[in-house]
Amino acid sequence: TPSPAPTPEAPLHTGPIYKNPSAPVEARVSDLLSRMTLEEKIGQMTQIERTVANGTAIPLRFIGSVLSGGGSAPSPRATPAEWADMVDSMQKLALSTRLGIPLLYGIDAVHGHNNVYGATIFPHNIGLGATRDPNLLERIGQATAVEVRSTGIPYAFAPCLAVCRDPRWGRCYESFGEEPSLVNRLTAPTIYGLQGSPPLNHPANQPYAGKPNFSDSVVACAKHYVGDGGTVRGIDENNTILSYQQLQDIHLKPYYSAIASGVSTIMISYSSWNGVKMSANKDLITDVLKKEMGFNGFTISDWEALDRITDPPGANYTYSVDVALNAGIDMVMVPYNYDNFISTTLSLVNSGHISKNRIDDAVQRILRVKFLAGLFEKPMADRTFQDKLGSKEHRDLAREAVRKSLVLLLNGEGKKVLPLSKEASKILVAGTHAHDIGLQCGGWTGTWQGMSGNNVTVGTTILEGIRGKLGKGEQEVVYKKMPTRQEVDSGDYEYAIVVVGEKPYAEFFGDDKELEIPEEGVETIKNVCQNVICVVVLVSGRPLVVAKPWLKDIDALVAAWLPGSEAGPGIADVLFGDYDFQGKLPRTWFRSIDQLPMNVGDSHYYPLFPFGYGLTTRMS
Ligand code: BGC
Repeated sequence: TPSPAPTPEAPLHTGPIYKNPSAPVEARVSDLLSRMTLEEKIGQMTQIERTVANGTAIPLRFIGSVLSGGGSAPSPRATPAEWADMVDSMQKLALSTRLGIPLLYGIDAVHGHNNVYGATIFPHNIGLGATRDPNLLERIGQATAVEVRSTGIPYAFAPCLAVCRDPRWGRCYESFGEEPSLVNRLTAPTIYGLQGSPPLNHPANQPYAGKPNFSDSVVACAKHYVGDGGTVRGIDENNTILSYQQLQDIHLKPYYSAIASGVSTIMISYSSWNGVKMSANKDLITDVLKKEMGFNGFTISDWEALDRITDPPGANYTYSVDVALNAGIDMVMVPYNYDNFISTTLSLVNSGHISKNRIDDAVQRILRVKFLAGLFEKPMADRTFQDKLGSKEHRDLAREAVRKSLVLLLNGEGKKVLPLSKEASKILVAGTHAHDIGLQCGGWTGTWQGMSGNNVTVGTTILEGIRGKLGKGEQEVVYKKMPTRQEVDSGDYEYAIVVVGEKPYAEFFGDDKELEIPEEGVETIKNVCQNVICVVVLVSGRPLVVAKPWLKDIDALVAAWLPGSEAGPGIADVLFGDYDFQGKLPRTWFRSIDQLPMNVGDSHYYPLFPFGYGLTTRMS
């Protein structure tokens, strides 16, 4: 009897199992693994920077992943199509290899697709923490995923799940806040937003990696595991000294939610825990994260993290690779010196220092994520969403986020100052941060460290937002960046809005022992606020010292965090009363620097404004 003809729904697949989209993922993973040479496996574990991902590295070294480090872009104003072309050209090289394993391209999209000119820049996480709005975070995750995909990129190094315990830390703004329960609450919605929510029948604790074959989700990366926000004196990449119970209660908690939400990848922190580099910590990576917590996706090292394993003294690169891979790191962000990493790993395997099982475990995890993400079926950029980058819809969402993130700290004594009247005949807008897109976006915008200026990306400054709201020209809304006292006194202004704050920074460049508002900002506050009703809007990644004599001259104080490209309309919406304030402090506002570290629940808790504080204009 003739065998039944294959139905159109389930065509007979004759090629290798790993190429069969209807075969179970685990079967595809083991089939592919069984076909790979050791060199091909180590290549999959290697992530290199885009600038060295040329015609030889990918096909000859079987590189598994490429990243844009910091703000690394094909050109400063590359369009989504140019980005997609670049990613596709690398993808073609990967597909041309013997087994045709697709590349996974990753980028730091940490507040929107921040490396791409014209993308929607959302408030940094500290501001999102102030919103305490899980639904908003999910929508921001979705919008970010669509913008990232619009450039042909399927992988974002976000979200940062740091629990920032000390505002002196230069990455405090990448954290949703100081309380594990707050960070925890915002973890799942962010991951669902980026990756898409797993369907109900998805196995518990299994990575999800986005909706296969759909181009509106990305592979997410929870970072930096673990304790990055708890380092001594808030020094970046430093040591976190805590008992295991404390580490669990404060820093590990959000990772349970991340894994339960199907997060596909987890980045290992540069920091140490009780003197041991996290990148070398087998207990926490293999025993806790993978075995106890059941994480089945892949772990990735931080940028050049293996080079930073310097213990014990005299440790060389061979030692670092040995200890990091044996600790359970699956993919290594090399990013340039990949030949050295690959040859070192090869000889460590050949000499038996790293077992073949360990390599297989790492590669299986990486392949699993690639299969789940649908990369084998749809490796090339999907150009459907190119018009979504910086779209009105996404900018409206960012504006909503800004509105909800603003925290009202002071609002007049007796008589309220906010909301401000739209009818005022002449007002002053002053301060370094009033008319500067770069400053309102902060670090990780355009470039790694961020920049000042209105060329950094497309957006609306706070001055422009105010002018737009009032519909008044330069005569009535006067802008002076740093007015003298005389200029202020002779101007007859009904009120003034002074916008000052921090200059952009990222990572250790932002570590700051003083946390003072830069001098030009303080000068402007002093010059403006003494004789005019004044609202100070503070643009900063964290609380700064405000308990100063000039505080009594301020009539209202608003923490705006690092609000991003839509700061202007979002802030104007709230200052002029179209919406009320609703942000609540995601971090304790200290009185003086010598109180730090100070977090809610501490026995010596004596803040200027406590965690969770935030007025509305209806409150007295
Ligand atoms: C940061 C990570 C980031 C990586 C890639 C590192 O310096 O610590 O958060 O994902 O660079 O750019």
